[in-house]
Amino acid sequence: MKWMEQELEKLAGQALERSLRDCAAVYGRAGYVLRGDRTLLNLSSNDYLGLAQHPAIAEAMRDALLSEGAGAGASRLVTGSRSAFHRLEESLASWQQCGSALVFANGYMANSGVISALVGRGDVVFSDRLNHASIVDGITLSRAEHARYRHNNMNDLERLLDKHRDARRKLIVTDTIFSMDGDSAPIAELVRLKREYGAMLMVDEAHSGGVYGEQGEGLCRALGVQDDVDVHMGTFSKAFGVYGAYVYGSETLIRWLTNKVRPLIYSTAMPPAVAAGVLAALEIVQSADGENRRRRLLAASSRFRSTLAEAGFRVGEGDSPIVPLIVGDNVTALRFSSALETEGIAAVAIRPPTVPAGTARIRFSLSAAHTDEELADAALRICGIGQELGVLPR
Ligand SMILES: *Cc1c(COP(=O)(O)O)cnc(C)c1O
Repeated sequence: MKWMEQELEKLAGQALERSLRDCAAVYGRAGYVLRGDRTLLNLSSNDYLGLAQHPAIAEAMRDALLSEGAGAGASRLVTGSRSAFHRLEESLASWQQCGSALVFANGYMANSGVISALVGRGDVVFSDRLNHASIVDGITLSRAEHARYRHNNMNDLERLLDKHRDARRKLIVTDTIFSMDGDSAPIAELVRLKREYGAMLMVDEAHSGGVYGEQGEGLCRALGVQDDVDVHMGTFSKAFGVYGAYVYGSETLIRWLTNKVRPLIYSTAMPPAVAAGVLAALEIVQSADGENRRRRLLAASSRFRSTLAEAGFRVGEGDSPIVPLIVGDNVTALRFSSALETEGIAAVAIRPPTVPAGTARIRFSLSAAHTDEELADAALRICGIGQELGVLPR
């Protein structure tokens, strides 16, 4: 085990070692996080709609815990398929106006399991270079060939599609909103290419489900291309404020996945109380309250992004609540993050291998729980730190 210490030393020397830090919720105060004895403005959560602390969701979970107990006790194909999952799947299908939906314990399992159920040896997956790690791992597990195209570059994708014209099955897969960059995929273009080359198209709406669309259906619905996408995936762990994931599409797709997705077959179902919480969250997401939260969140995100850009920072493109501030080197990113903490703001430094070398960043993610005053104050402090650290000209 000596090698392990040596490798860890190397990571530490490059300012790349990671460690777990104790955080606590500030109950009833969404948008904040407690670290030690300090309450920090939380600009690093994915609780986009501020639902993680919502009393109606917590109560639904508590009630279900008291009636259903703690665990599902078995995988869904054995005796774990509790009625809460079926109710949730029916609600999902009607929310998305699609054939069928399937609930998973989390997004990582959904992506890794679904991709390896769709393709195998002799097939090719065309995947954006900046796709989430769970997609990359799903491709590796599938044993299909991994054709990575340059980020959002449709010429590069088309070149690869052309090169692999004769592959057995072809799958194009993309995040809709990229988790570390906050920009969006050109879905309409992807639809055109998947048609032209006879490929399947799968989208991951982890950061857009709940955030876009009149009832929070996601980016594909907001763009009007939802029926042209073959496989939709999204999570309940971000805008829904709970935990878990969903896949939806045709009835045939869901029948196939029920038979073939290994993390569904060989892993215990999520606790039924979690599904009950998600059902309560889904009601809020679809309601006028949800719509109001989305509107405020997107308006605040665009103000926050333009304030930082106008101050001279290099920030990501797009209109999503993910606003990366790219500083470049790892040490500066870590210093920036710790200066923010001193100023009362939790915002973590994201370093390689999560992002490409030389693009270490602070990834701000906003929530509808934040007020305009809190965000304006945070932006001022961020600019001050930027000048102090020489990221901005003084
Ligand atoms: C967070 C995330 C996942 C994983 O979802 P979990 O439910 O947290 O496991 C998958 N894809 C993307 C794009 C994500 O950002």
